[in-house]
Amino acid sequence: MDLVHLTGWAALAITVGAVVFRAGYRMGREDASGFGEDQERRQETSYTFRGLNFLLSDEPDKAIEAFVNVVRINSETVEIHLSLGNLFRSRGEVGRAIRIHQNLIARPNLSDAHRKAALYALAEDYRQGGFVDRAVDAYRRVLDLDAHHRKALAGLQALHENEGRWDMALEVLRRLTRVTGEEDPRREAHLLIKIGLDLSRAGGESDQQPAVEWFRKAVRVYPGCVEAFRLLGEAQLAQGKVKAAIQSFATLKKNRPSHFFMLVEPLKRAYAQKGDLEGFESCMRDAVNAPAASPRLVALWSRELQSHNRTREAVDVLLKGYSKYPGSVVLARLLVRLLEHLNREEEALGVAVRCLDHLLSQQPGFQCSQCGFQAQDIYWKCPQCHRWDTMEPM
Ligand SMILES: [Zn+2]
Repeated sequence: MDLVHLTGWAALAITVGAVVFRAGYRMGREDASGFGEDQERRQETSYTFRGLNFLLSDEPDKAIEAFVNVVRINSETVEIHLSLGNLFRSRGEVGRAIRIHQNLIARPNLSDAHRKAALYALAEDYRQGGFVDRAVDAYRRVLDLDAHHRKALAGLQALHENEGRWDMALEVLRRLTRVTGEEDPRREAHLLIKIGLDLSRAGGESDQQPAVEWFRKAVRVYPGCVEAFRLLGEAQLAQGKVKAAIQSFATLKKNRPSHFFMLVEPLKRAYAQKGDLEGFESCMRDAVNAPAASPRLVALWSRELQSHNRTREAVDVLLKGYSKYPGSVVLARLLVRLLEHLNREEEALGVAVRCLDHLLSQQPGFQCSQCGFQAQDIYWKCPQCHRWDTMEPM
C-alpha cells in the first residue's frame, strides 16, 4: 500500500490498524522471548490502541501523545512516523513534521518505498511552510526515485504555478499529462498565454512576433480560450495586421459564443481601423441572431444601436433576445427603459411583470436558517445540516 496517497486521519487509522495487527501477530508468535521485551511490546500495543481510540473519538492531541509514546518504545515503526509527521503538518506544526520526515530520510536502512513516501511528505511540509526551493528539491528527489509519481508531479506543478514560473509549470504539466493520460487544455492554454505575455513585455512594441507564436499555441490547445484570442488579436492589431486581428476576434464567435461579447470592443476597433463599420455591423448581426447568442451580447448590440439613435432597431433586438431569456434582468431593464422612451408604457409594464414572474418562479420557497440550504418545499429536517425545523419562508 502506498501510504502517501492517503492523507490525514484515514491514513493514520489504517496505518495504526496494520501496526496493531503486526504487533499482535508478533506477540503471539514470539512467546519465547524475554519478559522485558514482551512487556515493551504489550505497552506498545496498548499505546497504539489508545492512540487509535483517541483518533476515532476526534481527540488528535491525545492521539499524538499516545503515538509519540509508541515511537519512543519502538523507533523502527516507519509508518507511524510518517503518519505522525503528516498529522503534525495537517495541524499546522510544519517544523515538527519536517523534523520527523528528515529523521526518517536519514535512516540508512530505509526501503525505497518508505524513502519515497518520506521525501514526498517532506516536500509537502516544505511547500506548506513556504520553503519553495527546498520543496522543489524534495519533489525532484521523489521523481528521481519514481518518475511517474502523480502527486509529486501535481505538487511540483502547483508550486511552479504559484511562483509564476510559467515555463517550468508547463513542462511539469505535460509530464503529468503523459503519466495520467488526462489532458487539461484550459490550464495549458493559460500557461502558454503567461509565457507569451512575459515575452511580449520583454520584446517591447517592435518585437511582438515571439509572443504571437505563444498565443497561437494557446489557441490551438484550447480553441475556446477568450484571453488567447483577445491577446492574439491585440498583438496582430499592434503589428498592423488588421485583417488577421479581425479574424482572431471573430473566431471566438464560433468557438465560444457565450463569451464572444468580451471581444466586441476590440473587434469594433479593428473594423474601425480598417474603415469597415458595415463589416462590423454584419458580423454583429450574425452573432446576435445565432441561437447561442448570450444576453450580454444582445444587450451590448442594442446599446450600440441606441448610441446611434437607432432606438427602434435596438428595441427589436432586445425584444427578440428577451423572448429567449425572459429571466435576464439586464435585458428586461434595457427594454423597459427604451420602451418608456418610445412612450410604449404598456409594453414596458408587460416586460417588467413578465420578468418578475419569471424570477419569482425561479426563487426557492424556503431556506435553512442554520446552513443556508434552499428548497422549493419545506423540509422539517434540513437535508444538508440535519437540524430540525430550521427552514424559513423566503
Ligand atoms: Zn440546514
